[in-house]
Amino acid sequence: MMKGVTIVTHPLVQHNLTRLRDQRTEPQEFRRVLSEVAALMLYEATRSFAVSPVAVETPLAKARGSVLQREVVLVPVLRAGLGMLDSILQLLPYARVGFIGLKREETTLRATFYHKSLPPDLRRFEVVLIDPMLATGGSAVAAMDLLAESGARRVRLVNLVAAPEGIRRVHARYPNLPIFTAAVDRKLNEKGYILPGLGDAGDRLFGV
Ligand code: URA
Repeated sequence: MMKGVTIVTHPLVQHNLTRLRDQRTEPQEFRRVLSEVAALMLYEATRSFAVSPVAVETPLAKARGSVLQREVVLVPVLRAGLGMLDSILQLLPYARVGFIGLKREETTLRATFYHKSLPPDLRRFEVVLIDPMLATGGSAVAAMDLLAESGARRVRLVNLVAAPEGIRRVHARYPNLPIFTAAVDRKLNEKGYILPGLGDAGDRLFGV
């Protein structure tokens, strides 16, 4: 148990994660499975969304119900976050979508921006930051800095595989950021890849 980290142990999530880890899983299959598992992760990550009570009338009688209190902004981190977007959008069809493009410098492992598009004021939204891999935490912190600058107050980070180093780094700067992942792996290798991980998620998704 790590504070602020929810490991989604659901059998369907773990089954799919194992398929993604398997080096024999080709991009076509990888895309499909990542997409499936993303919806399950989102289901868990949105469990604590605030709702407001409402009254509705069924064809037969009055009923009490609830609706989501806030609009949602999904922010996939390019490239690999794209692999989780479509199925999440199916669950939240009214969500807005922002994008953050980050590239890792291969030598320094530092995250540099190449693209940003976000709604202007994120204060009133629930924000879901999406990136399958939380490795060094450099990208996640850089993305969180941008979201914070844009006023975001309620952010959840949805990953699939996280390294302990990345979790520590993100929580050192954003201690209250809830992180959802299917696994916390052993460690990073010298190139910043997660062990055992699943390799380069972007490469495996897109075959490049
Ligand atoms: N990004 C990836 O896609 N894989 C890793 O293991 C680390 C960062």
